[in-house]
Amino acid sequence: MTDIFAGLDVVNSYASLPAAFYTRLAPQPLTSPRLLHANPEAGQLLGLSAEALATPEFLDVVSGTTPLPGGQSLAAVYSGHQFGVWAGQLGDGRAHLLGEVVSPSGNWELQLKGSGRTPYSRMGDGRAVLRSSVREYLASEAMAGLGIPTTRALALVVSDDPVYRETVETAAVVTRISPSFVRFGSFEQWYGSPENLRALLNYVVDRHYPECRQAPAGEASDEEGTILRFLQAVAVRTAHLMADWQTVGFCHGVMNTDNMSILGLTIDYGPYGFMDAFQVNHVCNHSDTQGRYAWNAQPSVAHWNLYRLASPLLGLGVDAEGMKASLRHYESAFMERYRSNLCRKLGLASWREDDEQLVDDWWQLLHTQQADFTLSFRALAEAPADPDGFVQRFTDNEAAQKWLTHYLERIDADRLAGDGHSDEAERINSMNHANPIYVLRNHLAEGAIRAATAGDASEIDTLLMLLRDPYTLRAGYEAYAAAPPEGADKLAVSCSS
Ligand code: AMP
Ligand code: MG
Repeated sequence: MTDIFAGLDVVNSYASLPAAFYTRLAPQPLTSPRLLHANPEAGQLLGLSAEALATPEFLDVVSGTTPLPGGQSLAAVYSGHQFGVWAGQLGDGRAHLLGEVVSPSGNWELQLKGSGRTPYSRMGDGRAVLRSSVREYLASEAMAGLGIPTTRALALVVSDDPVYRETVETAAVVTRISPSFVRFGSFEQWYGSPENLRALLNYVVDRHYPECRQAPAGEASDEEGTILRFLQAVAVRTAHLMADWQTVGFCHGVMNTDNMSILGLTIDYGPYGFMDAFQVNHVCNHSDTQGRYAWNAQPSVAHWNLYRLASPLLGLGVDAEGMKASLRHYESAFMERYRSNLCRKLGLASWREDDEQLVDDWWQLLHTQQADFTLSFRALAEAPADPDGFVQRFTDNEAAQKWLTHYLERIDADRLAGDGHSDEAERINSMNHANPIYVLRNHLAEGAIRAATAGDASEIDTLLMLLRDPYTLRAGYEAYAAAPPEGADKLAVSCSS
């Protein structure tokens, strides 16, 4: 038998933190686990070949049956604000960190999700159902295909073990990989415990934000200076993530501070949704009855969450005004990225002041007509050549024509100024690389779940193939590019996973 892990350099940096940060324990393996799918792209990041992913040794590790050679399995503790309320101590209630692989592509922590109870499980059973595991597996790869920061998925393991939710479902384990699984809530855990807080801060800054130790001229080189630069850097990454989510129509669904990555990655895919019909206040999580995490609330929620991250750090003697100044960078970073994303999506050379109106009117048009988010953006590239076709997409043709007239004038203004695209073909090509044609719509994920429940991973393969390059139209996959069938908006996704 070959040892596929022999070539991997496995370290355990998280386990070097003080013992209070985690509990060492092994995953609880599923009964008769089967590998439903492995992701060669994630394998490659680790230095594992496609052949390696098909071996029994690989299945043993990603099902939690045997330890990752050289790894020290643990569950991490963290806290968090859930739906705006302090929830106290949480932690990896159904996840196990296996270890960290040092590879040419960087350091990657491997974590199992759905791998059994831990001291942080509270009332939970430590399991994840197949349905939510397929959704996480697909979504993280869809995000990567869109170029949006995210944790990645390496493997999806299934079993016949029953899991009790609203109905009886079956258990699955997703192996996720990420440079770090530290969350805002990991810092909140140490509110009022300066020693542990400092240990976590130094760990994260040394590994992921080393530039924050360098003081530019006029800034303090002491710990306070480092913290302020760190907060600013996290604020900027988070702002960029929010701008990326907004401009692709992604709703996370559960933006609690324990689901906010310290690296600005999309993490913890639950009742998320890529919008079909656009609604500014679209809520994808049926458990979110107040609409706290609606699409148009996401940017301000993330800003609020950054204050929750900063609050324990005030305990290290950081000046409150300095902290606010650091977090103020959030808004400008968000606007800058949001506008540059929209410029690419609308085919504009650069942002002009009155583009605010053009964009507001665009959202208004989509909202009042409940137009499909993805297809409407995608149609923009061809609108100058086929204005009638564009207008016909909307139920209120007059309103669409009015907006289109302004848009075409705006495109012309770039052309007259000699800005922007060299020619029409280049403009269309560039816009089509900013406006995906395939997104992970709920009904598409649902199709993959249905097949997976019957042991068939072919839908997962098809979706991953399309979503890895979501900008390129492929013949024979028209149904995947279409608006959802009637009734698809009735699919309910909730926190229950
Ligand atoms: P989430 O909002 O899904 O990210 O989870 C919030 C908290 O609940 C985290 O601490 C999870 O580890 C924990 N949790 C969620 N589902 C389960 C489960 N089935 N068993 C144990 N803990 C869970
Ligand atoms: Mg979570």
